[in-house]
Amino acid sequence: MIPSLPEFYNEGALVAVLTAQPLDGPLDYLAPEGGCVSGAFVEVPLGPRRVPGVVWGPGRGGFELRKARSIIRVLDVAPMRDEMQEFLRRAGEYTLTPLSAMLRLATRAPGLSNPPSMQKIYRLGDVTPERMTDARARVLEVLRGYGTLGFTLKELGDLAGVTSSVIKGLVAQGAVREEDTPRDTPFARLDPDLPARDLVPEQSVAAEALCSGVRGGGYGTTLLRGVTGSGKTEVYLEAVAETLRLGRQALVLLPEIALTAEFLTRVEARFGARPAEWHSGVTMTERRRTWKMVGQGGAQMVVGARSALFLPFQNLGLIVVDEEHDSSYKQEDGVLYNARDMAVLRAAICGARVVLASATPSLESWANAEAGKYERLELSARYGAAVMPELAAIDMRAESLPSNRWVSPTLQAAVNSRVAAGEQALLFLNRRGYAPTTICRACGHQIGCEHCDARMVEHRFQKRLICHQCGESAAMPVACPSCGAEGRLAAVGPGVERLAEEAAALFPQARIAVLSSDLFGSARALREQIAGIAAGGADIIIGTQLVAKGHNFPLLTLVGVIDADLGLQGSDLRAAERTFQLMRQVAGRAGRAERRGRALLQTFQPEHPVIRAILAGDEEGFWRTEAEARRAAGVPPYGRMAGIILSSPDMQAVYDLGGELARRDGPIRAVGAQVFGPAPAPIARIRGRHRVRLLVKAPKGAALQAAIAAWIGQVRLPPQTRMTVDIDPQSF
Ligand code: ADP
Ligand code: ZN
Repeated sequence: MIPSLPEFYNEGALVAVLTAQPLDGPLDYLAPEGGCVSGAFVEVPLGPRRVPGVVWGPGRGGFELRKARSIIRVLDVAPMRDEMQEFLRRAGEYTLTPLSAMLRLATRAPGLSNPPSMQKIYRLGDVTPERMTDARARVLEVLRGYGTLGFTLKELGDLAGVTSSVIKGLVAQGAVREEDTPRDTPFARLDPDLPARDLVPEQSVAAEALCSGVRGGGYGTTLLRGVTGSGKTEVYLEAVAETLRLGRQALVLLPEIALTAEFLTRVEARFGARPAEWHSGVTMTERRRTWKMVGQGGAQMVVGARSALFLPFQNLGLIVVDEEHDSSYKQEDGVLYNARDMAVLRAAICGARVVLASATPSLESWANAEAGKYERLELSARYGAAVMPELAAIDMRAESLPSNRWVSPTLQAAVNSRVAAGEQALLFLNRRGYAPTTICRACGHQIGCEHCDARMVEHRFQKRLICHQCGESAAMPVACPSCGAEGRLAAVGPGVERLAEEAAALFPQARIAVLSSDLFGSARALREQIAGIAAGGADIIIGTQLVAKGHNFPLLTLVGVIDADLGLQGSDLRAAERTFQLMRQVAGRAGRAERRGRALLQTFQPEHPVIRAILAGDEEGFWRTEAEARRAAGVPPYGRMAGIILSSPDMQAVYDLGGELARRDGPIRAVGAQVFGPAPAPIARIRGRHRVRLLVKAPKGAALQAAIAAWIGQVRLPPQTRMTVDIDPQSF
């Protein structure tokens, strides 16, 4: 295939320029001196401002040419490729997002328009300052934490919370080094031909299948399923190696930043250098470098969060979506997209391979594999001597537990015997904080968030109440905010912090570590904690779902799930799938090395079909039953859904608008689809805005997006009202 050259426009030609400004679409401008190509990044005047944009084909004209303003200049970055333009267009059509908003996702490169070629970077020096102040100590602490990475003056100042004069003072003493470095240097070369591990036969077969797909070129998606610890990562790293050998770029998406550290180490061990990183924990300087280098081929491999899909790859050959079932791939803010689905779209457009890796695939991917749209590869055995843990339920109806205690005597005995043997036990509870509810024993009032339809959650380590929806926090009150009674507020229900308190009382000799996202100020503190646990620095680990994802704790042989029923409450049709996945993932933490692990599930309903399927380890059976239920209900993956969320500070306004949409459902009915609602959204109020939801359910082949566009186009939004369209919502 010969790539066609981008269209060239001579100086003065009328071109369309798309900007990330919320306009209806591209605006016409005159090509600058020297001309420009289609896809060029440019700076244009917009009202009194100058904004960046992308040349989006020929201008539409239709007005007097002399009114058109000129493009100011072409920016010094590689033009956006046709396939990227196509990707933004189609992803925008799919998610019903205006192109300008899509463009914003693709231009998240800080300082895109003003790149000086050299910059001053600050690194740790080797002199200890004569006089140590708090501010100075913070600067050194930040620099120590990030090893070799350097910061710009502004970044370092922001991270350490100090003014630039503090940093300059340290430079004068030699405690901090100031270096002139060229911006945007290429990343170190990865060598795919360094010796790989010897794969076991099953792994070799899978790796060879992926590699031959990569060699064959062109689009294709493979679902790589394998129990935790079966070597999926080893296998897909070989597909990455093959991609690099062919001179193409590879992207690996991970659901959680906390996982990248361990993963980067593995990549470095395999390829001899670290790949580029793209996620919220990366400094602006590094992000900008990554963005530019990905576009120029100076980065062969990127490890990142979902937004890495919008990087300007010039020759993308492979996208791996690790833990593809993970719900954090769904972006729930701004543009609502599922990175797993967008990875497939992007690959289809640019002719790349996709590997979806998971121990517990999403029902969507499972169904696509069943239907033959995805190839399927399986790893059935754990690597080495490790075997799957033995699973058992603890029937909580038969356990005698005092109130406000959550560890049953059976679980307690199991933990004791493991700890006595020098092994580790994990107590899993997917609830952050101390207690989910704070109630007044005098009047029964439950403390809720002022701005949200949510309870305030007590966080005892921080001595605060925090709303998990909007982040609002308040000091723990002494008196009830409703009746004023003092000293009558009580914690109801368990959170991980409370569980830690109970564990400390039950297992006084044990060393206990709590892993919950809000107990760590920084990604580094979390990494250190995880490394400490892996090295045997704790006997009992208490954790939220943070621990369910891919950490290797070789000494861990027992997992106790405090409340296996937690995810099964509520009416969400995905509840069964999520619980099944989460329980299997958590259980999979146990017994990775030579010793067989055990997982004990505390439940009040051991006869529940989902709990029974988990215990039986009957994955195929579970998917088939679940698939049947979804098919019967006509919901994804056997039907299509969309959610429309209307929000406003004015409750009446959203219900009126919702009612109007429900009445004027002609365009929806025209494609054989139905509207449900308006009903209160899953969270009915966030940050003071009332939220109602309408759900659209459509048959599989319906032209859903076009119908929704026509439908919502009929109404006008009252002031302060917002409408969000969520195609393929996570809960329905
Ligand atoms: P998964 O991604 O399926 O959870 P991993 O690839 O992380 O599995 O493998 C689990 C553990 O087993 C890792 O520590 C990995 O290094 C090790 N491992 C897997 N396959 C091999 C192999 N062929 N040779 C050596 N170690 C292996
Ligand atoms: Zn709130």
